[in-house]
Amino acid sequence: MHRPGIKTCMLIALSSGPLSHALAPKPRNPFDDQFYAPDDIITRDVAIIGGGSSGTYSAINLRALGKSVVVVEKTPRMGGPTSTYVDPQTGVPVNYGVQALYNISVATDYLDLLGVPMEPFHVLDPVTRVYADFHAGKNVSVSPSPGFAGYAEQLGKYPFLEYTWDLPKPVPEDLLLPFREFLAKYNLDDVAYSVYFSGPGYANILDQLTVNVFKLIDDSYLKSNSGSGMLPVSGNNGELYDKALDILGSDVLLSTTVVDTKRSYNNSGIRLVVQSGSKWKLIKASKLLITIPPLLSNLAPFDLDANERNLFSQWNYTNYYIMLVNNTGLPDGIQFANAVPSSADSFNIPNFPGPYQITSTRVPGLFYVWYASPYDATEAEVKADVVAIINRLRPTFGNSTIAGAPNFVEFRDRIPFKLVVSAEAIATGFYDKLGALQGRRNTWYTGAAFISHDASIIWHYTRSLLPGIVA
Ligand SMILES: Cc1cc2nc3c(=O)[nH]c(=O)nc-3n(C[C@H](O)[C@H](O)[C@H](O)COP(=O)(O)OP(=O)(O)OC[C@H]3O[C@@H](n4cnc5c(N)ncnc54)[C@H](O)[C@@H]3O)c2cc1C
Repeated sequence: MHRPGIKTCMLIALSSGPLSHALAPKPRNPFDDQFYAPDDIITRDVAIIGGGSSGTYSAINLRALGKSVVVVEKTPRMGGPTSTYVDPQTGVPVNYGVQALYNISVATDYLDLLGVPMEPFHVLDPVTRVYADFHAGKNVSVSPSPGFAGYAEQLGKYPFLEYTWDLPKPVPEDLLLPFREFLAKYNLDDVAYSVYFSGPGYANILDQLTVNVFKLIDDSYLKSNSGSGMLPVSGNNGELYDKALDILGSDVLLSTTVVDTKRSYNNSGIRLVVQSGSKWKLIKASKLLITIPPLLSNLAPFDLDANERNLFSQWNYTNYYIMLVNNTGLPDGIQFANAVPSSADSFNIPNFPGPYQITSTRVPGLFYVWYASPYDATEAEVKADVVAIINRLRPTFGNSTIAGAPNFVEFRDRIPFKLVVSAEAIATGFYDKLGALQGRRNTWYTGAAFISHDASIIWHYTRSLLPGIVA
């Protein structure tokens, strides 16, 4: 599994989706109506690409504002990393992706629109945390600071970071320090492990720029942790997307990808050729809203110009994998947290790829695993690593004589997960240039790369775009 570190914009588009279906022949002129049956021409005000957190929010709210929409989602389901497994025996829901939402008005307004009753966040699967060296299969002594006091004080210097990427000019140099150096500068050793453990998905967080850590473990995260979080009364985070799909119905095209696009520079709208299952369809819309990770490879079918290509070629990214495993031989009620023995500036934080945690759920014998990689690890590589780790943990913590190997009940990847750019790009106004794309060529953008990895904050940002999209 040894490969170079974070890679720039690798080919990941279409990693799952309609290509597995038998293909109908592509229309000779795919932008010409006459090559399509009437049912396969879809005319809408707004075409939304991606049916995850921001795409679904956009679709529901644009509909509420009287606009017609179509959502193009490449997988067979909506919701992105919102992943809920319902135990077939007991009906108990296990959220093994998104856990909690930040209770701000944009989120509660949206949940009212969806008709999902919410309650204050509480831990559904209580566990005792055990720190373990996943490489050695042994206990590790870790005593992270219980709060984020010193970190919160530093974060508090940059209140604008919570809702925007509007950085002062020049950008404060602390924000562009690697997080390892920032921790040393402000003597924050005692919170380092807590920040790492709370901010999964970054892989080697100590190498990240401090601004990116602040965008992940932000004020909304700290507040959600201390009482401002919420979750559905049903305990099932997937309920949001079940309700959204009920409302949107056939306006959502699942297992569908865009293969070709025409975007005008005037107000004549956009045309998208999509492959939906084994069919080709033509979408004609006034506006395009892109919510998928804006990697060059993901956006290749979108008729990019030089300015767009230049910006979207600058991302680096890390990957995230979430899974449910049983037959582990590990005891219920425990959360195994990956840690290494203390050494100078390791802060007990392990190297990645690897899991952050292996955590017991309410379903006896069922554990969820969160795993990150700084490069594109395959499903087979990740599973092999997780099995090897569980086998190393069993003799110390569990039952090493259990018959059979660990069994994967669910597995999902978020490739890419976190998109970042270099310190130099940030210092020279990358995010201002990104923001200037909004509305250009009848195209709008939202999603985590444009603001942060918190669903409620993404909705807040998306809401600010709606007047422009509706106009
Ligand atoms: C394990 C985990 C736990 C998390 N926990 C929380 C939490 O507790 N609270 C919180 O607020 N946030 C949480 N997050 C973060 C949050 O889920 C994300 O920040 C949010 O989902 C990002 O929204 P998005 O719309 O940008 O992307 P996504 O929600 O990932 O949506 C993107 C969608 O686009 C689709 N797509 C991708 N490429 C294409 C393509 N080429 N064509 C068509 N469709 C495409 C994807 O399949 C996906 O459905 C968590 C994330 C993870 C991975």
